[in-house]
Parts: sequence; structure tokens; C-alpha cells
Amino acid sequence: MNVSVTDAAPKPAETLSCYIQRVRNSLSLTQLELSTKAGIHVQTIRKIEAGGTSRLNQKAKSGLAAALGIPQEYLDAVVKKVSLEAITSLKFCPKCWTPGTTLDPMWTSLRSKYCFACGTQLRDRCLSCHEPIVSLKFKFCPHCGKSYKQTE
Ligand SMILES: [Zn+2]
Ligand SMILES: [Zn+2]
Repeated sequence: MNVSVTDAAPKPAETLSCYIQRVRNSLSLTQLELSTKAGIHVQTIRKIEAGGTSRLNQKAKSGLAAALGIPQEYLDAVVKKVSLEAITSLKFCPKCWTPGTTLDPMWTSLRSKYCFACGTQLRDRCLSCHEPIVSLKFKFCPHCGKSYKQTE
């Protein structure tokens, strides 16, 4: 589990300008350094941090996400002012996930279909009865009693 990714998650009601500034500062990057890393104009970053823009085009979004080491979904959540849960889903790798622990953001990203570590297709439901996962605290499916972890 990558702690820095968790720390970099947007806080509820955090604005885009605060969020970019906070993550940039946590990485000790200047606006200029960030713009170089992200491949976008420093003016764009100044404008974002000054609160002058609340939207990101695809280029800025992917550049900033890569430079700040955060999933693009985090930026989507801030821009759309929705919770992370609304744009991610409870998905997990049945081989790598230890049921009862938090999920890696690499799995829960809406765009992820396969596990980044082992290539197994991600699941969002019980392998045996196909009921969706209701809580990450559960180790066993409440509908059929089977473990969420694939064992073989
Ligand atoms: Zn895996
Ligand atoms: Zn089940």
C-alpha cells in the first residue's frame, strides 16, 4: 500500500487550487518545476492555483496526475466536486487483495480492468454468487459465505 498516494487524496470540499498547491508543496516542487514535469505552461499552473480556473483539459489533467504522482481520478473528483467514492468503484484483485484491508487505488480506478501486479481480471463482486461487494470489512460474502479471496 502506497501511503503517499493515500495522503495525496483530495480532502472533502477541497478546491482544485488548494489541492494542487497542497500536493505540489508536499513534493517540494515549485510552480515552474511542476509545469516542466507536467508538460504544461507555468501560467496554467499559476492560474489553477490562483483559483482562476476550475477545469482541466485532458492534457493538463494527465500531465498533472503524472507529475504529482496521483491518479487522474483524484483530479476528476476535485474538479467535479464529488467524493472519490463516486468516481471509483469497489474493485479488487481476487489474488492480491487481503480481504478486510483497504483496496489499492490502482484497482478502484474506474479505468482499471486488470490487476497492476499480477494481471488478473479485477472483480467487484463475489466470485461464486456474483453479488456485489457491500463492505471492505467483510472477508466472506454475506450472501453465500465464500471468501472474497481466490484460493488455488
Ligand atoms: Zn493481482
Ligand atoms: Zn457470494
